Amino acid sequence: MTQTADQQRLEHRDFGRDVLHVIDGEAVPSADGRTFESVDPHTGRVWARVAEGGAEDVRRAVAAARRAFDEGPWPRMSADERGKLMHALADAVHDRREEIAQAETRDMGKPITESRTFDLPRVERNLRFFADWLRMSEAEVFPATKHLTYSRYEPKGVVTAISPWNFPLMLGSWKIAPALAFGNTAILKPAEQSPVTATMLGELAAEVLPPGVLNVVQGFGPDAAGEYLVASPDVDLVTFTGESTTGKAIMANAAPTLKGLSLELGGKSPNIVFADADLDLAVAGTLKGIFKNQGEVCLAGSRLLLERPIYDEFMERLIAGAKALPIGDPLDPATQIGPMVTAEHRDRVVGFLESGTADGAVRLGGGVPSDPALADGFYVEPTIIEGLPADHRCVRDEIFGPALVVSPFDGEAEALERANDTPYGLAAMVWTTNLSRAHRVAASVRAGLVWVNCFFVRDLRTPFGGAKLSGVGREGGVHSRDFFTEAKTVTVELDGM
Ligand code: NAD
Repeated sequence: MTQTADQQRLEHRDFGRDVLHVIDGEAVPSADGRTFESVDPHTGRVWARVAEGGAEDVRRAVAAARRAFDEGPWPRMSADERGKLMHALADAVHDRREEIAQAETRDMGKPITESRTFDLPRVERNLRFFADWLRMSEAEVFPATKHLTYSRYEPKGVVTAISPWNFPLMLGSWKIAPALAFGNTAILKPAEQSPVTATMLGELAAEVLPPGVLNVVQGFGPDAAGEYLVASPDVDLVTFTGESTTGKAIMANAAPTLKGLSLELGGKSPNIVFADADLDLAVAGTLKGIFKNQGEVCLAGSRLLLERPIYDEFMERLIAGAKALPIGDPLDPATQIGPMVTAEHRDRVVGFLESGTADGAVRLGGGVPSDPALADGFYVEPTIIEGLPADHRCVRDEIFGPALVVSPFDGEAEALERANDTPYGLAAMVWTTNLSRAHRVAASVRAGLVWVNCFFVRDLRTPFGGAKLSGVGREGGVHSRDFFTEAKTVTVELDGM
């Protein structure tokens, strides 16, 4: 059968070349030659071989970033010059977007349609937004009779950026873009489960930016590249996205050198639907809220709270909608639910589902799909479970898969009590047509982000981050500037001493 060019591109083939570190403008293997493998979660087969960073690779990358910061042109350029180069990097990503989107999907199982329509456009937007933000930004002047005082926002130095596997390049660039725009140099360490696209970005940066400005070190976290990059005394700042337990380890490891830290961590976000909600909107938003990226989303609305009068109707419509989601090969543009990132993660998610099945009522899914075409991949069925006690591990812990737990509530007070009964505080969704209630609930829920009658809408000017175990600090717009720069106050005597 003759295939179209597009179909030929969407095959599960090997990456075709080694995935290296990018240090000081060069793609390089590990100093000791060590490598690890990245597995395609649809086929279960190795598809890429990746350099495994150790202490010497970290030392070289930090030294290159340090040199580029202390002696190179990058921090000394005008905002216009830096902005232009960051747009050039965004242009390079744009030109290669299809290749990068496919690599992202092959590496971690994200549906290709999401890679194409969400992740890659956001990578570009992250780069362009901070390039422009920098050019437009202002600083304060504090006039007084005898003194003139003003602020300067100076780059901090060398930034370590550690990213997770669920939105690999989108979140990598969310850290790199402001770090570089504000004049820092950086080392990006992507997650070991999704390494490929970081090297692709690093290679593009090596063509466009001065050497050492953006370095990429591949490898693992504990007692490996991640840990060394946090501990290094030559690194000034650490921006991390990942699990809350990893965040605690990073905080402890950064303490001896007293580094600035931004931690974007896990979540178990409530999705509250009031009886007065627009149900079409709420059902569609709930489906997206838990099944986007097969539930591997920190912001996922993974605890559905339904006001009792609409419980049965809502569940019926929700289950019908979930059943209709195409699950399968993530390279198929029709797919909406891809495999879990690794076999280990699939087993972890299934472990949660087994305990949920034992203690609650499974309304949909509950295990791995029976379709033999998916047998080699790490798939989990879209799952909806009701009737679990509030202290059940499926209700309290982050499952990070396509698994929704549901409970009814009676009235606003109970909704809020249940919504806030969690150690996390990343996001919340509220569905209601009552304007006053929308604002009341938004004000009372403990979370960094609240979406009213929508989900996943992001304006990059706004603060992003979580409360409680979901994080420390905020990034986005002026908050990114505050994190990635050293604010300095300059006071000038106007009238003689
Ligand atoms: P993870 O914490 O296991 O790993 C994240 C990164 O940290 C990887 O690059 C890993 O190699 C590195 N790492 C691990 N241990 C380390 C250590 N001791 N020192 C330095 N680096 C170390 O997280 P994950 O499994 O890749 O991602 C899923 C988690 O990320 C979920 O909890 C999810 O909620 C969270 N997440 C949060 C946000 C947010 O914005 N708040 C966004 C996406 C994902």
